[in-house]
Amino acid sequence: MAANTEVVVIGGGYAGVMAANRLTQRDDVTVTLVNPRPTFVERIRLHQLVGGSHGTVVDYRKVLADGVRLVVDTVTRIDAAERGVTLATGGTVGYDYLIYAVGSGSADPRVPGAGEFAYPIATLEESQRLRSVLDAAPATAAVTVVGAGPAGIETAAELAELGRTVTLVCGGALGPYLHPRGRRAIARRLAGLGVTVLDGPGTQVTAVTRDAVRLSDGRRVPSEVTIWTAGFGVPDLAARSGLSTDALGRLLTDETLTSVDDVRIVAAGDSAAPSDLPFRMGCQSAVQLGPQAAETVLSRIAGERPASIDVGFLGQCISLGRHVGVFQFSRRNDTAIRLYVGGRPGAKLKELVCRSTVWQLGYEARRPGARTWWAKDARRRQLLQANREAPAPAVERAT
Ligand SMILES: Cc1cc2nc3c(=O)[nH]c(=O)nc-3n(C[C@H](O)[C@H](O)[C@H](O)COP(=O)(O)OP(=O)(O)OC[C@H]3O[C@@H](n4cnc5c(N)ncnc54)[C@H](O)[C@@H]3O)c2cc1C
Repeated sequence: MAANTEVVVIGGGYAGVMAANRLTQRDDVTVTLVNPRPTFVERIRLHQLVGGSHGTVVDYRKVLADGVRLVVDTVTRIDAAERGVTLATGGTVGYDYLIYAVGSGSADPRVPGAGEFAYPIATLEESQRLRSVLDAAPATAAVTVVGAGPAGIETAAELAELGRTVTLVCGGALGPYLHPRGRRAIARRLAGLGVTVLDGPGTQVTAVTRDAVRLSDGRRVPSEVTIWTAGFGVPDLAARSGLSTDALGRLLTDETLTSVDDVRIVAAGDSAAPSDLPFRMGCQSAVQLGPQAAETVLSRIAGERPASIDVGFLGQCISLGRHVGVFQFSRRNDTAIRLYVGGRPGAKLKELVCRSTVWQLGYEARRPGARTWWAKDARRRQLLQANREAPAPAVERAT
């Protein structure tokens, strides 16, 4: 009988759950998932938790295959040489293969006062804290949302719909990803909700104080509650463990998601940087990368060569309160096109996306490997080729 293979997955988010479920295809593979919380967090609904319109916690029994052992703990170190991970509560868990899927969180704002006076919403705990702060603030309190990516736009709209006085500080363009048509639709809806949008040059935040936000053009925006949504960072576990990462701290891998340092470590989701050309952070890429990380491990166990990844995008789906949304369509390579669906149909599509994402996790739990979800994006091959052919930067050439 073949020996049992132990696979440890670090991180029970979209990528980690998909990976763990897919691994249960083989009876001779033991799968352990390590995650700090006993429940799955729907991060894409965190702005709804802040606004009180939806919960964000899902029982792992709904989304995780029965065969996966869940260890509620935090990995503090990966020991690649010994093939083990150290847990915060003490002890280690050994592995034959490791999947690194620790996701993302708030970026270090690096703006004076932001760490002290602004509230991030990238994790469950941060969103719960912000909710308490908003509940305690007067209904008329000036709320400033910093960052005009999807999380910022969604949070601003959610709170404005509740009657809050909201200013959205973009630090540049409103929704930089969007096609101008989609952007105009969002701007119209935000205006309809009474959100003051400060966009364009001069709107970078340079300082946050207890009662205001200072902009690069010198303006002072009064703010009793400042919400920080500008950018995601990643946990530093890989770097702390001596593994190669990109500048942000994502684990550097090849096109099979295998660490450039160690063939037994594979990455997926927001914390992966395949070929140093990472995808836009999002659950859209995470649910595709998770199973493909698992496929890489399964191929190695079977003595086969792992396949290169394929990730295809559909677009970006943004809720604008509970009744309106914008589904901005894109090419498969994640560049926005003219086409979008707005209004109520846009809101319905967004809700469908949120539900179907959780459904996908459960489907993979019940029928691991029954379907591949990803699409081919030929442009990535061209991009990789161009990267290989590009001359090395001067500093590297000199050394
Ligand atoms: C308000 C908001 C709205 C969003 N809306 C969208 C959207 O509409 N569409 C979209 O595509 N994306 C959206 N995103 C982004 C999306 O949520 C993330 O990109 C996605 O969750 C990434 O999935 P992941 O599996 O890589 O990581 P995560 O979902 O972050 O999961 C990582 C898991 O790893 C755990 N972990 C971290 N460190 C350790 C450790 N040391 N040991 C053990 N476990 C660890 C974490 O606690 C977490 O449970 C939104 C995010 C926010 C905050």
